[in-house]
Amino acid sequence: MIPFLDLGRINEPHQARVREATHRVLQSGWYITGREVEQFERQFAHFCGTRHCIGVANGLDALTLVLKAWDFPANSEVIVPSNAYIASLLSVTLANLSPVFVEPDPHTYLLDPSRIEAAITGQTKAILPVHLYGRCCAMGPIRELAERYNLLILEDAAQAHGAIYDRQRAGSLGDASGWSFYPSKNLGALGDAGAITTNDDLLADRLRSLRNYGSSQKYVNDYIGHNSRLDELQAAILAAKLPYLTTENEVRRKLAKLYLQGIDNPDVLLPPTDQVEQDVWHLFVIRHPRRDALRLFLQERGIGTDVHYPIPPHRQRAYKEYAHYSFPVSEQLHREVVSLPLNTALTEREVSYIIDTINQFGG
Ligand SMILES: *Cc1c(COP(=O)(O)O)cnc(C)c1O
Repeated sequence: MIPFLDLGRINEPHQARVREATHRVLQSGWYITGREVEQFERQFAHFCGTRHCIGVANGLDALTLVLKAWDFPANSEVIVPSNAYIASLLSVTLANLSPVFVEPDPHTYLLDPSRIEAAITGQTKAILPVHLYGRCCAMGPIRELAERYNLLILEDAAQAHGAIYDRQRAGSLGDASGWSFYPSKNLGALGDAGAITTNDDLLADRLRSLRNYGSSQKYVNDYIGHNSRLDELQAAILAAKLPYLTTENEVRRKLAKLYLQGIDNPDVLLPPTDQVEQDVWHLFVIRHPRRDALRLFLQERGIGTDVHYPIPPHRQRAYKEYAHYSFPVSEQLHREVVSLPLNTALTEREVSYIIDTINQFGG
């Protein structure tokens, strides 16, 4: 049996480091916003190439807090991809802003710059590109539009730890970026954790306050804040794992290349190969017109898969008000995508077996 994801196996190489980090935090007697968080923030900002990193409780909060910190007038519009994970959309509506959906590029599944301009109105304040599956959006053209229309850019980098666009790392490509360190991400904590990276000093100050009850001085509150702190334990674990991220991304890339070279089933659509080295392969997503039958076929042969994601955001019950929208590109993607196992615990032999099994399907 090859599970889609086995987090225990993925964290096994880090066991000694994680034990050492947790022991240190336990002994310190200091568990919330202390030296471990500061040190991880410094390390992660350096990794991304930004001046600031602000640790927060999770990825959704990271995105929401940035949008709140920007303090746009109520119902200002934010451009979001129509095919992403629900968190990107949630952050917009939780900040009392209005999402404007833009269809993705049908080849990269990422926000399509050529469709953005038509979605911009007098109310538009920001663009929220999601670096879905580990590949950066076309940030050059997106930044040009943002400059031309005076819009801010919030990257959703929750799937793109270490991804590169034009020699720069994800997290440094817009005005601010939201990160998640949910256990299954390329850099994963042992619980919930998140962060924001930015080069904006004022925004960073405001976010440090907003994550901590809107307070930068104990018992003095400047904003209606959240309690969204990254804790010392998770920060220490993340700091222990961060030095291995680049090597781990290399392992993912190597396995992704095996899939790209090996899968030759004519009905399978592979991910684009023009940025193999810049992509960090958070997920290896293929398409098949009979996706569910393919999943069953793989399941019967001991191969676990997952779907990212089965229901487009505008078709979720939580967002009935968008149910009448029609996004054919997104809807087709949500029907056809399937994610194959791809992680640092997977062996080349397992990947060969998965490739052979996929190539046998439907023949
Ligand atoms: C995981 C993820 C998030 C949210 O992260 P949480 O830490 O689970 O809140 C946001 N956006 C994308 C694209 C994600 O993959």
